[in-house]
Amino acid sequence: MNSEATPGTAPVESTGEPTTKSNFLRDAIIQDLATGKHGGRVQTRFPPEPNGYLHIGHAKAICLDFGLADEFGGKTNLRFDDTNPTKEETEYVEAIMEDVRWLGFEWDGLFYASDYFQQLYEWAIKLIKDGKAYVCDLTADQTREYRGTLTEPGKDSPYRNRSIAENLDLFERMKNGEFADGSRTLRAKIDMASPNLSFRDPVMYRILHQHHHRTGDAWCIYPMYDYAHGQSDSIEQVTHSICTLEFDNNRHLYNWFIEQLGIFPSQQFEFDRLSLTYTVMSKRKLLRLVQEGLVSGWNDPRMPTLSGMRRRGYTPEAIRDFCASLGVSKTNGITQLQQLEYYVRQHLNKHAQRVMAVLKPLKVVLTNYPDDLVEEMEAVNNPEDASAGTRKIPFSKVLYIEQDDFREVPPPKYYRLSPGKEVRLRYGYIIKCESVVKDADGNVVEVHCTYDPDSRSGGATSNRKVKATIHWVSAAHALDAEVRMYDTLFAKENPDDVEEGQDFIANLNPNSLEVLTAKVEPSLKDAAAGARYQFERMGYFCVDPDSTPGKLVFNRTIGLKDTWAKIEQRAQNA
Ligand code: ATP
Ligand code: MG
Repeated sequence: MNSEATPGTAPVESTGEPTTKSNFLRDAIIQDLATGKHGGRVQTRFPPEPNGYLHIGHAKAICLDFGLADEFGGKTNLRFDDTNPTKEETEYVEAIMEDVRWLGFEWDGLFYASDYFQQLYEWAIKLIKDGKAYVCDLTADQTREYRGTLTEPGKDSPYRNRSIAENLDLFERMKNGEFADGSRTLRAKIDMASPNLSFRDPVMYRILHQHHHRTGDAWCIYPMYDYAHGQSDSIEQVTHSICTLEFDNNRHLYNWFIEQLGIFPSQQFEFDRLSLTYTVMSKRKLLRLVQEGLVSGWNDPRMPTLSGMRRRGYTPEAIRDFCASLGVSKTNGITQLQQLEYYVRQHLNKHAQRVMAVLKPLKVVLTNYPDDLVEEMEAVNNPEDASAGTRKIPFSKVLYIEQDDFREVPPPKYYRLSPGKEVRLRYGYIIKCESVVKDADGNVVEVHCTYDPDSRSGGATSNRKVKATIHWVSAAHALDAEVRMYDTLFAKENPDDVEEGQDFIANLNPNSLEVLTAKVEPSLKDAAAGARYQFERMGYFCVDPDSTPGKLVFNRTIGLKDTWAKIEQRAQNA
């Protein structure tokens, strides 16, 4: 549910099925196909800057870029927008490729804006020769001053009317490394009085003596975004160049360069950026979290990055369904995190293998159960998928149940285990609490129960009903596992909502990670990193890459919808 209602946004948990709704991007493509604008061809691109890992916002862009092209039999390139050597790294390039593939997309062409540095340079020379670009010696501060404001026109640079010959000479010398960083720029000669500030002689090239992750030291002048992006699209014959709304202003300049150069007429379309509650989505902010050690890395399971979500156990299908549910609009809104979580639950519910795991163990001794008997209980792997089959779980005299499933003094409507009361053990027997053992501080450390031998699940006499069924593991057979329980990384819906003098870091949730030592059923012994499970009644969990055969580690992906917690909450508030 978007707090600012955006057209075409699916209400959360309405039908549960994402839809391919009509939107202005599709409509534009359909229109262009109808008029034969690009010879019936659809070509898109996804153009990340390799200065960080992809996040869920990028997933929206990826799903649109690849999804729209797929829908109309078109192609999609992956192009790294690597024009800023100071922040870009090969590590990011590799991570981005991995994440796009994980999300389920394969690009047609793989390109880098840096592939086009020579062509862009030659086009710059052409613009100089046409009298449409000049070398300017103003400093960055002066350039800003001369630019004017929204209400005031700018002033012409004193270098604006250099001769073509002088411009060609200076530009070549800029390229040859004769000048210091920041001492000169190449600027387009457009209109210092234009109401569109981006038309006031925008900078095309700056001097930067910086090693580039791909071109090394071949260049010491680098093209600006506005000079590189449209032409890169054009070189690749991109028909529909889709980007977020903040580029609305850049569209005119995008068209201007293409028109001046007389090259393939790529066209830009803008859509709304995804923002989610309880997280931040700017790479600059995510980088800070990583650099300051506030998370374990870009793939920390609390991060909104695709690698974090993968590690947490989110599925690519769920993320794609979520993106499809978002709709496309011309105004930025805020999407509730619960909308994403809804699709994660939907998908995991259908596909995750069920197992039993006790997160906060309490020992239960069945006093009338034979000491050495071990029974094999048959358990269903996935009630949503008959083909998933069944497995056997050992049952014995000493078990663990959740601490929460026992109350010495039960509150009203508490139907789980308490003194004198009965409960069913899933796939097992009905047990009755007879007594408790306490430690010196009065905490219950062991619960003594009797079991009803005639009540075995699935048995001939098993139809006796009790109000609650709880999960368990056999103490002698269970494995220890580290379980990392996550909450939102930020405590506030909008992490940028801060007091004077603070920034988003102040809103970090101090309780976003709790580590438990759980007892899990023995079938999990060889669970592989990335495997996803439903721990019955407790939620969805995924094996962390830190996991080893000797030491299992799980991440909680997300809880089940916990109606009991809500009832309890209401009771407490009443
Ligand atoms: P950031 O501001 O986080 O650094 P960016 O927009 O600079 O993000 P890029 O790597 O340049 O990141 O983005 C690649 C593509 O992904 C662009 O087309 C951009 O519009 C799109 N994109 C980035 N963030 C979002 C978002 N939150 N929602 C939708 N699309 C996004
Ligand atoms: Mg960017």
